[in-house]
Amino acid sequence: MAVAFKGWLTNANVRSEAVRKMKSDYKELLKRAQSQLPPDILEHKRFEIPKVKSGAIGMRTYIVNYREIAEALNRDPLHLLRYLSREMATAGSIDGARAIFHGKFKNDTLDNLIQHYVQEFVVCPVCKRPDTKITKEKRFSFLTCEACGAKSSIKTI
Ligand SMILES: [Zn+2]
Repeated sequence: MAVAFKGWLTNANVRSEAVRKMKSDYKELLKRAQSQLPPDILEHKRFEIPKVKSGAIGMRTYIVNYREIAEALNRDPLHLLRYLSREMATAGSIDGARAIFHGKFKNDTLDNLIQHYVQEFVVCPVCKRPDTKITKEKRFSFLTCEACGAKSSIKTI
């Protein structure tokens, strides 16, 4: 036993071969583990909230990249619109890729509101991942997490 151990330590070629094999086994294992993940979890690995691009014309504020934001959050554009309109106490509508709100609102205000929306209606309160869906049961709404399976009640808007 002792001799074999000594041989293992002194034979550099054998040792590096063993290390190389271990590394490639590990890589193989990692690759296999990743290929078993559902593709949408990999897609959401880098979750970023797009920054609002807005502009005001007269007494109206436009969010130019509105649809892009709703898509990045994987939320119904109308749901986000109801939230923003309510928070800003104004009327809003969707016009193609843009959203239009009555009144003048700063870009920072819009960014902050969208971050609040993400905290309340996108991110799972249990595992903090954004892989969620909103479901409705009667008059109640839930945030169902596809990553950890948690189901959390949320406000209906
Ligand atoms: Zn979760």
